[in-house]
Amino acid sequence: MNRPPDEIILRVEGLTKAFGEIKALQGIDLTLRRGEFLTIFGPNGAGKTTLIKILSSLVKPTAGRFTINQYTAREHGEAMRRLIGVISHRTFLYPQLTAYENLAFYGEMYEISALDSRIMQLLGMVGLKHRAHDPVRTFSRGMQQRLSIARALIHDPPLLFLDEPYTGLDPHASELLRDLLLRLHDQERSIILTTHNLSRGLEMCDRVAIQVAGRIVFSAPKSEIDLETFPQLYFHYASQQSDEVRSDA
Ligand code: ATP
Repeated sequence: MNRPPDEIILRVEGLTKAFGEIKALQGIDLTLRRGEFLTIFGPNGAGKTTLIKILSSLVKPTAGRFTINQYTAREHGEAMRRLIGVISHRTFLYPQLTAYENLAFYGEMYEISALDSRIMQLLGMVGLKHRAHDPVRTFSRGMQQRLSIARALIHDPPLLFLDEPYTGLDPHASELLRDLLLRLHDQERSIILTTHNLSRGLEMCDRVAIQVAGRIVFSAPKSEIDLETFPQLYFHYASQQSDEVRSDA
């Protein structure tokens, strides 16, 4: 495949979001290249979830725009959604349906061929084959999170958004997700991960950004970062959000 190496899959320009008085996003600009893995760190309330929700077309921005593979949400919402997989606090699963039925529902929505084998492959990938026919309401929080990872991957999307995916996972499941992400991160797939976990977040990414009070205040290729001193750098930026919140009070 002869794709240019720097092909941009996601372009975000001047994205803002206000919830009444609260300015959750205050002008986010970013680009993501095909195959690139970007980790966004940020303290509570920095607007990471809001950003991911807007990019997933779950929330409308107040101003600004973004394109995914040059599609816009307004004109090509359906085509855009096919390109993305979202893993967040919300599992988007139906508790009364079994694990298999949940994946079948999403698979049919995306018109996946050979759906049965795709479902069993994904259930194997997230270690839930033995629970395929149990209702999701009987699953633990971590098991539901694992199933939601399979749900997000059913259509093999080239762009993945992971918003705090480690929340609620035990060390084993967390390791499983790490291995999965390493496998998913190839030349074709682009990933944005938001997390508070500095070591997990730094481990796999190509680029690191820090978001504070609705703005990207730092962005650099991982190769240019001193990993030893990164925690201090992060805490330096993160403390600015507390200052900003205090000065607003
Ligand atoms: P955390 O790390 O705690 O998950 P975050 O960086 O994901 O935080 P957001 O959840 O995006 O931050 O929240 C950013 C700001 O927007 C916060 O001040 C939050 O209270 C506010 N906010 C988010 N969603 C809403 C909403 N639906 N209505 C009102 N305010 C909201």
